Amino acid sequence: MNQLGHFINGEAVSGSNSRNSAIYNPATGEQTAQLSLASVSEVENAIQIASDALPAWAATPPVRRARVLMKFLQLLNDNVDELALLISQEHGKVLDDAKGEVTRGIEVVEFACGIPHLLKGEYSEDVGTRVDSWSVRQPVGVCAGISPFNFPVMVPLWMFPIAIACGNTFIMKPSEKDPTSTLRLAELFAEAGLPNGVFNVVNGDKEAVDTLLTHPRVSAISFVGSTPIARYVQKTGIEYGKRVQALGGAKNHAIVMPDADIDSAVNALMGAAYGSAGERCMAISVVVTIGDVADPLIAALKEKLKDLRVLPGTNPEADMGPLVTQQHLDTVRSFVDSGVKEGADLVVDGRQIDHPDHGDGYFMGGCLFDNVTPDMRIYQKEIFGPVLAVVRVDNYEQALELINSHEYGNGTAIFTQEGHAAREFATRVQAGMVGINVPIPVPMAFHSFGGWKGSLFGDHHMHGMEGLRFFTKLKTVTSRWQANKSQSQFSMPTMK
Ligand code: NAD
Repeated sequence: MNQLGHFINGEAVSGSNSRNSAIYNPATGEQTAQLSLASVSEVENAIQIASDALPAWAATPPVRRARVLMKFLQLLNDNVDELALLISQEHGKVLDDAKGEVTRGIEVVEFACGIPHLLKGEYSEDVGTRVDSWSVRQPVGVCAGISPFNFPVMVPLWMFPIAIACGNTFIMKPSEKDPTSTLRLAELFAEAGLPNGVFNVVNGDKEAVDTLLTHPRVSAISFVGSTPIARYVQKTGIEYGKRVQALGGAKNHAIVMPDADIDSAVNALMGAAYGSAGERCMAISVVVTIGDVADPLIAALKEKLKDLRVLPGTNPEADMGPLVTQQHLDTVRSFVDSGVKEGADLVVDGRQIDHPDHGDGYFMGGCLFDNVTPDMRIYQKEIFGPVLAVVRVDNYEQALELINSHEYGNGTAIFTQEGHAAREFATRVQAGMVGINVPIPVPMAFHSFGGWKGSLFGDHHMHGMEGLRFFTKLKTVTSRWQANKSQSQFSMPTMK
């Protein structure tokens, strides 16, 4: 059995804790590895190492830091296929989708390579007589990242390349369900020439997270995961004096307007609802149909679902792989059961599907509900599986009201051919990321990623300039050089 530990001070180390968790291949149901869950003292050791590495790395000129990132970028590009395979074997997603995940992560490293330019500050000459003022951004210190199972490469890459480019040192705590690809990132970064101790990976569960959240040497926490844990992480981190960004769950709605191109909307919704088995925080899980658009839309989705190929993610024919664990499969199926009990119409039932290649894997097919109403559990809760709910309303205002009053506000989309409707939607909708005829509007690395309401706790989105602001402290220097001695001044200095 493959035994996985941590990556600390530039090398892979085995865990010394007696607590372990099992890692499975979701396509076969086989246990493939055993993961050591870090103890408090193991996490404290990683924090000490990151803390020791901080002064030298923070003092390394940004242009030299960028050169290490450029080498890392090269190694990532050379290893896309390997990383994608590691993701698929532990997460279950199809290989093409896993490659897409790696590419979206690589784009953040490309952004971080521009750090000498990004860190340029502001300078004002003569804010007073012979007084100048300038602002710089300096590293925050030891930072920690805690990531979810559904993007084991992309989400860590949202965090640590920018933090490290800014001169911080970092401890990553990946999901205990699929940590192998994250550990591989650490090996590649070390191979790129990153000094020991600047980037570390500790594997673990709540015990490891709590140690990071409460330790006085950790200055910033970047979290992505479910809403209850995001809320807890933000509250605890703040209580212990850290800056925190904590991204949570989602229930992304798409509005289909009566004038929408139905074929395009259906194709977009199939990928957005069932891609990665719905295990994406930007998946569309609710379609709000206006007026008569529901019937043709549902008929077309039903037809398409007949052709959805649910196979092991490593099979090049697969559209959708298994769910991540048996437990998650049971949860998603029970959500579908509850939707039926609550009175929604299950137009396509994917709870049980059969295929010779499924073995003991955690497979289910795509499910489609019609006539879902806002009082139902399947409408209110994040299911995080291949389940699409159709809510029928009469007009656009009702659709907007549904989105704006939902607990979550991560992403949303509108399908329409009318510019006025699209523009008005983008202005008024209460969500952090908006798509216009784009089902999954994930911002590029040089913009920033984040939701509103119960989808994000904290003030900063991820990556782009928001990432840079989160991982740096602003300092403003005011300096005076004058030939004559100055006098004491007891009133507020102003420019007269
Ligand atoms: P999760 O909240 O169960 O776990 C996330 C991380 O928190 C993991 O590293 C886990 O070890 C840790 N954790 C779990 N329970 C904890 C506890 N009690 N105390 C401290 N730490 C704990 O999430 P998940 O199931 O791995 O991922 C799926 C969730 O992540 C979904 O809700 C999804 O919407 C969300 N997500 C959000 C975004 C976003 O950008 N908003 C992106 C990806 C995933």
